[in-house]
Amino acid sequence: MLNMIIFGAPGCGKGTQSKLIVDKYKLTHLSTGDLLRSEISSNTELGVIAEKYITKGNLVPDEMIIEILKKAIDNRPDKSNGIILDGFPRTVAQAVALEEMLKNRDMSTVVLIDLHVDNHELISRLLYRGETSGRCDDNLETIKNRLEVYISNTVPVCNFYQNLNKYKAIDGMGTIEEIFNRITLVLARCT
Ligand code: ADP
Repeated sequence: MLNMIIFGAPGCGKGTQSKLIVDKYKLTHLSTGDLLRSEISSNTELGVIAEKYITKGNLVPDEMIIEILKKAIDNRPDKSNGIILDGFPRTVAQAVALEEMLKNRDMSTVVLIDLHVDNHELISRLLYRGETSGRCDDNLETIKNRLEVYISNTVPVCNFYQNLNKYKAIDGMGTIEEIFNRITLVLARCT
């Protein structure tokens, strides 16, 4: 069973690469951003709270997202398959909670793949996406805050996985296919 994390700054291509990885390795895609956006569009109590954080480019509270992810893991349709986590963990507390919740389910992560993309490129990709995505957080002011939050709260997660010997950095610049090839090479060594 391949359980993995796709990691990197907002706009690094996590979602795009996840789709290709899911097709090739038949994993269940769990994107916390998508889970939150679905709570928002269904106008649930959680969604109303989450939207306030997301619109500003801040992280939603750890306890909230950890509960949402736990439910999504337990409700995934095919339990024989591995999972690809996209957008989680985003803090060290989330990483600790993730490893614990997987252990309790006789699962564990195999690798965290960190996609490295220049800041300049990230901003232009997010602004371009904002023209069509309709996302409330793809505007310049919010993007800048998301990148700051990424550096201060999320980058320390790399160290956590380095210490577990599960960290792999990948060059996230280039064509979608080039980047996907780099990922498959890493996964070939992990599986
Ligand atoms: P991106 O990686 O492009 O910023 P996501 O769709 O992964 O986009 O996340 C959008 C927003 O949802 C984040 O800026 C944050 O507010 C919230 N979010 C998603 N995942 C998490 C998480 N694991 N912890 C806290 N907040 C999260």
